[in-house]
Amino acid sequence: MPSQLIDTFNRPHNNLRISVTDRCNLRCTYCMPEEVVFMDKAELLSFEEIVRFVRVVAPLGIDKIRLTGGEPLMRRGLVELVRMLAEVEGIRDLGLTTNGILLADQAQALYDAGLRRINISLDALDPARFRELARRDGLDKVLDGILAAKRAGFEPVKINAVSIRGITEHEVGPLARFAREHGLEMRFIEYMPIGADQWERNKVYFAYEILEQLEREVGALAPARDYDRRAPAMAFEYADGGGRVGIIASVSRPFCLSCNRLRLTADGKLRNCLFALDEDDVKGLLRRGAPAEEIAEVVRRNVHAKWEGHEINTARFIKPQRNMHAIGG
Ligand code: SAM
Repeated sequence: MPSQLIDTFNRPHNNLRISVTDRCNLRCTYCMPEEVVFMDKAELLSFEEIVRFVRVVAPLGIDKIRLTGGEPLMRRGLVELVRMLAEVEGIRDLGLTTNGILLADQAQALYDAGLRRINISLDALDPARFRELARRDGLDKVLDGILAAKRAGFEPVKINAVSIRGITEHEVGPLARFAREHGLEMRFIEYMPIGADQWERNKVYFAYEILEQLEREVGALAPARDYDRRAPAMAFEYADGGGRVGIIASVSRPFCLSCNRLRLTADGKLRNCLFALDEDDVKGLLRRGAPAEEIAEVVRRNVHAKWEGHEINTARFIKPQRNMHAIGG
C-alpha cells in the first residue's frame, strides 16, 4: 500500500515508536536526571487509546511499531498491549527496546504474544561502570534478560550501547566479544544531546573510532553483504564469520534524509523527530472521540511539517525540552 505519510523531502513514513511510560528503573546519566517528576497515570494513553491510534495510522502506511519508554517493561500488562497490536491489520513488524532488567520473567510471554524484534540496552559489562552510568545496580538481571530473550526465540537479539568517550571506549572490546560468544548483534550508538546531562561534542566516541578499535581488538570487519546505506545502523560483518556489528552514527553520519519515523509519547503527543520542538496532541483527539479522518489529518500535517534534519551539527541546534526518557528512545 503506498504511504500517505510522505513529507516535503519525499520521505515516506512507515515506522512508529510508541512510548508506553516515562518511568524507568535505571537513571542513565546521558538519558535522564536522578530526580524526576513522572507523568501522572491519568496522563498516559491507555492500551485502548494506543490501539485506536494505530488502527488509524496503519491504513496511512504505518506497518512497523516499536514499543519503548522510559522502560516499557515497567508498564503493567505490556504483554497484553503486544497481543492487541499484533492483531492490528497492516502491522507486520512489532519490536521492543528495553533495558532488560525485567526481561527474564517476561521474554517468553512477549514472544508468545507476537513480539518478534527485541533490542536490549547494555552499555557496560563491568559492574562498577554499569552502576556509574545507570546510577543503579542490575547488570546481572540484564544478562539474565538477554539469555532469556535468546531462549524465548528472539532472533536476532540486538544489544545497544551508547558510545561515550572515556566510557564505551573501555567497553567496546568486552561488549563485542560478549556478543560474538552469545550470538548477539552488538550495536554502538553515538551519544546524542537529548539527555539531562551536559552534552559536549568531544564526549561522543565516534563511529570511525569504534570501528578502528573493533578491528584492533576483536577482528577484521567488512561492510555487511546486505548493507543498506539508508538504514540507521551501518552494518558490518566479522571477516572470520563471527557475526555482525552495527554502528548508529547519529551525530557523525546522520540518517535524517532516509528517516521514516514518527514518535508517540506516553502522554499522547505526536513528534516527527526525536529532536522536534513542536508536537501534536493526539490524546486530546482520542479522548474527545474525534473521527479517524480528523486524527489522520493531524498525522499527515505532523509529517508534512518535518524538518530536513536534526541540526545537532549546526549552531542552530536547540535541545528539546523533553529528555529522552519522556520522549521515547
Ligand atoms: N529503557 C529502554 C532502554 O533502555 O532501552 C528504552 C528507552 S531508552 C531511552 C532507548 C535507548 O535510548 C537506549 O538504548 C538508550 O541507551 C538510548 N539513549 C538514551 N539517551 C541517549 C543519548 N543521549 N544518546 C544516545 N542514545 C541514548
